Amino acid sequence: MLRVFIPKERAPGETRVAATPETVKAMVKEGVEVIVESGAGSGPHIPDLSYEAAGARLSRDPVTDWAAADLVLKVAAPQRREVGAIDEMRAFKPGAILIGFLAPHRNLEMVRTLAGGEVSAFAMELIPRISRAQSMDALSSQASIAGYKAIILAAGHLGKYFPLLITAAGTVPPAKVLVIGAGVAGLQAIATAKRLGATIDAFDLRPAVKEEVESLGARFHVLPGFGGNGGSGQYAREVGEALLKKQQEVLRPLVSECDAAICTAQVPGRPSPTLITNDMVDGMRPGSVIVDLAVEQGGNCEGSELGRDVIRHGVVIIGHPNLAATMPYDASVLFSRNVFQLMRHLIKDQALHLDLNDEITRAALLTHQGKVLHQPTIALLEGGF
Ligand code: NAD
Repeated sequence: MLRVFIPKERAPGETRVAATPETVKAMVKEGVEVIVESGAGSGPHIPDLSYEAAGARLSRDPVTDWAAADLVLKVAAPQRREVGAIDEMRAFKPGAILIGFLAPHRNLEMVRTLAGGEVSAFAMELIPRISRAQSMDALSSQASIAGYKAIILAAGHLGKYFPLLITAAGTVPPAKVLVIGAGVAGLQAIATAKRLGATIDAFDLRPAVKEEVESLGARFHVLPGFGGNGGSGQYAREVGEALLKKQQEVLRPLVSECDAAICTAQVPGRPSPTLITNDMVDGMRPGSVIVDLAVEQGGNCEGSELGRDVIRHGVVIIGHPNLAATMPYDASVLFSRNVFQLMRHLIKDQALHLDLNDEITRAALLTHQGKVLHQPTIALLEGGF
């Protein structure tokens, strides 16, 4: 019988879990034995008893159960021993499968160790954004949470109402929100700001998103005279220096007028474009807020810092790297469903089959049979990083 293990997450700040009672039940129905480390659900407040009721066995000896598992489901990349009591990178048996967010470019030592340990590691961030893989798209499910939470954070920091209010003491105008980048996180930020009653401007290089942005109630801005930046699929292409300067000039008045700016502009695998420079921040009203979701890739705002709230000229610039982890319950529910769908994709006749000709498997499989398969990661490893 296929044995699946779900450990407690030990990475700093990681509050999510890779399976919920809902997905445990579904796994058991598929004929899988599920073992959950005691306390794995403590971040999202899912008690051990709920996992047991769903059909899981509880583990109080994670080292043994990890080493016996055919498949390990995680949220964050395996950690070194210093972080937790377990050397997570070396906890697997040879041939085991790992599924989780692995951030290979930031975890090259982990990639080498997993390959060396003959672990077949699936990186959820490498799931292709194709319709067949939509239900497995964890980047999107978590980015949507981040877009929502970015607005909630901005509203919490802003000393103003978001909605228009007509009161006995007179009228309060609605807050002005600017959303830069109208992909998954940006669209959810627009929808959330709209629900709170703000007026919203949105900017993206892809004209294709205009309709969606406007249907959510925002004004859409593009670069005048710019034909678009479709790239392949749903992604934009990276822009050059001259275009970046033009963008900054289009954004300058929108930035100076807004109360809150949410930055989500990103081309996958590239450093994020700097769209709000320090002098643009200096032109904002003190008390305004910037939430820079792109901070992990360098940020869209020149002054943002990873993991910090920076105050510049009275403007708060929030650089939280993992907003989904601030909503651990729904983030875990959605992430677990994404992971379960990938797992189902890999299971045939109650056994795991990795078909390297399958587009989803091929794209997301980072290490397999002692080798690293993901080309950009191979390039980084060969570059001596
Ligand atoms: P996405 O690919 O769906 O959307 C990115 C959007 O940016 C696209 O619409 C693209 O056209 C646009 N874009 C690219 N270059 C641009 C430019 N120069 N000017 C204007 N728009 C441009 O990505 P997503 O899933 O929405 O994620 C957005 C960002 O948020 C990423 O950097 C991601 O890593 C980050 N993120 C952060 C957190 C967090 O907690 N900090 C959580 C999830 C995602």
